[in-house]
Amino acid sequence: MRAKSVGGIHLHYYALCKRKLWLYDKGIAMEHESDRVLQGSILHEQAYPRLQQKEWLVDDAFRIDAIDGEYIRETKISSKMKNADRLQMLYYLYQLENRGIRKKGLLSYTKEKRTEEVMLDDDTRKEIKRAIAETHGVLEEERTPKVIKMPYCKSCAYYSFCYAMEEDEE
Ligand code: SF4
Repeated sequence: MRAKSVGGIHLHYYALCKRKLWLYDKGIAMEHESDRVLQGSILHEQAYPRLQQKEWLVDDAFRIDAIDGEYIRETKISSKMKNADRLQMLYYLYQLENRGIRKKGLLSYTKEKRTEEVMLDDDTRKEIKRAIAETHGVLEEERTPKVIKMPYCKSCAYYSFCYAMEEDEE
């Protein structure tokens, strides 16, 4: 069986919560999630005023915020999810490298007015390959991964869904 394709958001969710990843992949969308997408697109509109090339759809497979010389760029509101942001950026760099395009990544956080560089090297390449393989593993699970309580849950779109379901399961 051919593996399903995964994208940058899958890797972002993989880093945050395996259950969120699984629910998202099954198309279980929450209203609050569309607010987050809207926030992201407004932020994208305002970011990179000097750049000519904003948004780059690569092979209809994934979309990058902007290209700035040797860098690809992503802008986020805050660095609260920086591990997930970093993994998502590594995914884009790895996908580009597989297509013969070598870039570095810049993650900009508007709230903290900070920018971080992300690069592919032997270690990060291994890390992203492993994360992609494990993401596929989660998506192949037949049952929804269990709720693992963490501080992030309260701001997650699936919060009421997860915690209502959890009460039912107990
Ligand atoms: S509420 Fe918590 S457990 Fe549920 S999907 Fe979100 S992060 Fe995962």
